Amino acid sequence: MTEDRGAALVTGGSRGIGRAVAVRLARSGHDIALCYRSDEAAAREVAAAVTEAGRKCHYRRCDVTDDDSVGEFVDEVGEALGPIEVLVNSAGIIRDKPLALLSVADWTTVLDTNLTGTFHFCRRLAFMFIKQKKGVIVNISSVAGERGSAGQSNYAAAKGGIDGMSRSLAKELGAFGIRVNVVAPGWIETDMTAGVADVAREKALAAITLRRFGRPEEVAELVGFLVSDAAAFITGQVIRIDGGMTL
Ligand code: NAP
Repeated sequence: MTEDRGAALVTGGSRGIGRAVAVRLARSGHDIALCYRSDEAAAREVAAAVTEAGRKCHYRRCDVTDDDSVGEFVDEVGEALGPIEVLVNSAGIIRDKPLALLSVADWTTVLDTNLTGTFHFCRRLAFMFIKQKKGVIVNISSVAGERGSAGQSNYAAAKGGIDGMSRSLAKELGAFGIRVNVVAPGWIETDMTAGVADVAREKALAAITLRRFGRPEEVAELVGFLVSDAAAFITGQVIRIDGGMTL
């Protein structure tokens, strides 16, 4: 078994990038807490993979938009796994449409999930990390946050918000030895991108320097590096992983 590195909480850890992060961090010695919104079977399957890696896994439904549920979940994780030392915010959704056709509900739900959900967990864990004088945060945004993306104004606004919030939080927490970074993926093959029409996929592929889409495990490797001591002097950064899409 690997050295014990403390508990890591991964939001949206039941599928896609969050799932890959949970398994990657388990393999490097973290017990894992993960939350999901609806797909319990997927969460159970991740828990089995974490257990197979020799670590404990605590999972439950927790809607990141609901601050009371977030508080209950964080308390529960502390009891089940001990102090949380790593937070990875990966829960996210898209509701793509040109802005002129975007409903207020599509705007609000994307901002609430991606940005406010990330805020909810950062707020709770920042307080805990300051008391512990120990902790690392990685928030998953998107290259859309920096570059914009037609049909994704709600999503780009949320992800750009995560970038700004994370840089600010890095400045607030640096003096306590707590690091905050952002991973901004380009196109990664997950359920989120699975439904995109072929014509849009081909257009996206042509714009990627490496001429392929990324894998969740590749994003997880970057997250694994950022939470490790090897990245001890990196904070407040938004690091793209996009196969050269934004070159
Ligand atoms: P995904 O495969 O669709 O997985 C999304 C995860 O978030 C699921 O575990 C889902 O749980 C959870 N989730 C969604 N809404 C939630 C809520 N309100 N409360 C709690 N959990 C919630 O997505 P992904 O592609 O892995 O994306 C992960 C992150 O990377 C997101 O923040 C996304 O914006 C970002 N990202 C993805 C790409 C890409 O190309 N895939 C690119 C850039 C950035 P349920 O299954 O229970 O709904």
